[in-house]
Amino acid sequence: MRIDIVTIFPDYFGPVGADGRVGDAGPLGVSLIGKAGVRGDIDFRVHDLRAWATDVHHTVDDTPFGGGPGMVMKPDVWGDALDSVLAAAQATAAPAPAAPARLVVPTPSGAPFTQELAASYAAESHLVFACGRYEGIDSRVVAEARTRLPVDEVSIGDYVLAGGEAAVAVIVEAVCRLLPGVLGNEQSHSDDSFGGTGGAMSGLLEGPVYTRPRTWRGLEVPDVLLSGHHKAIARWQRDEALRRTAAARPDLIRRLATRGDGLDKRDR
Ligand code: SAM
Repeated sequence: MRIDIVTIFPDYFGPVGADGRVGDAGPLGVSLIGKAGVRGDIDFRVHDLRAWATDVHHTVDDTPFGGGPGMVMKPDVWGDALDSVLAAAQATAAPAPAAPARLVVPTPSGAPFTQELAASYAAESHLVFACGRYEGIDSRVVAEARTRLPVDEVSIGDYVLAGGEAAVAVIVEAVCRLLPGVLGNEQSHSDDSFGGTGGAMSGLLEGPVYTRPRTWRGLEVPDVLLSGHHKAIARWQRDEALRRTAAARPDLIRRLATRGDGLDKRDR
């Protein structure tokens, strides 16, 4: 998979080389995702938006039409940046045709980013992220991009960040851990909260987890987990997942209840 990120703060993602490749620090360079980058499973490229600003001050923003506070990111700079990033991906892929790209624009006014969306992005070959700042990007950038490639505006939650970089770090991490070979154990995807697709935990939050020592500060690991009875353990895990989901996210239980196979007879 190829991931291009356009930002006015490339350093946010760690040390970036002249070719846009990221070094072994920062959110793209460490842990399992960093290793996937080193293996070549993910080709991360980070680009400084100011490289496409044509004035001496490398200006990327201007005052909003219609008035109001703050500044808006300029469409001409963004348009040139996206043209160039998409063309560079084509050139790198040649002689094979470049994989079709999907543009992802983080914004608080976008559709909620979910585990389902993460899974669909993990099936893409090329994602391009456009990090907004100030009051956001001139709306014509998304409108124009939509005429030539798939574009998603996505929100990572009902709050407002200062810029798109943190949102992109969240989305990229959620997507990349779903790529084959990134996690040691693929089973952990389906056991994750939100992660199950038709399995026992489908649509539920994950229940509590424990490890050694068996007794810690007077607190015991539940006996059933030490019993060796796989069926009893599976039932306990589902009960705990249901309990936790009902307490923290009753909306998810309501959704399961309307699904034909969502809740079984023994669910309380
Ligand atoms: N004026 C915009 C609004 O009210 O919708 C907020 C702009 S925000 C200060 C600047 C940038 O941060 C946005 O363009 C976007 O890239 C990013 N951002 C802020 N909150 C976000 C969120 N919840 N999800 C995704 N991106 C967000």
